[in-house]
Amino acid sequence: MFYRVFYPCNKIHKYLIKDLSVKISFVNECLACRRKIATYDEKEGKHRLLCDGKGNYQDFLDATTSGKNYIYLSDEAMDAIVKNSVSGIKEMFCCMAISGKFERTYHKCDITGKISLNEKAMFLKKKNYCEECGQFEWNKKGIGKLIVDENSWNGYDICRLDFFENIFICAERFKNIFHSEELTGLEFEAIKTTG
Ligand SMILES: [Zn+2]
Repeated sequence: MFYRVFYPCNKIHKYLIKDLSVKISFVNECLACRRKIATYDEKEGKHRLLCDGKGNYQDFLDATTSGKNYIYLSDEAMDAIVKNSVSGIKEMFCCMAISGKFERTYHKCDITGKISLNEKAMFLKKKNYCEECGQFEWNKKGIGKLIVDENSWNGYDICRLDFFENIFICAERFKNIFHSEELTGLEFEAIKTTG
């Protein structure tokens, strides 16, 4: 069973407004299709996150920012990930989450697990594909209910959805560890699977 990973939509927890450790280094235009290509880089120096919201910092920080999304974990969550040998999550660096006078350390992590949608079962097709930069549009506006293809899964506990890199999908094992370690800040929704 696979799950889509969400941040709870109530706003009692601290959430990330801006990842100050990232900068857009340049925006180019593809010469073939004229679509924009932005490149994101890490800033030098101390890594900082600007936060907002009331209440306590959760173990997973709600992190909807521009560009590619990453996952931000507390020390406790990072320990649980290491202790349980969770796969598909790779620490990049430590950063301080700051909101007013409150500060907490977070670990910025990339997600290396991979799984794809079953495009056929979802009636999804790529259109206006650019050979030069690889960008394209989908034939539908909203993608609707997700159906993942288990054959495309690289076996890791937490994954980025291929072609929708800001959607995180996890396997049963990740969800079980999250609950047994009593971590906070994520919700899970079961999704359909083929294969
Ligand atoms: Zn292009």
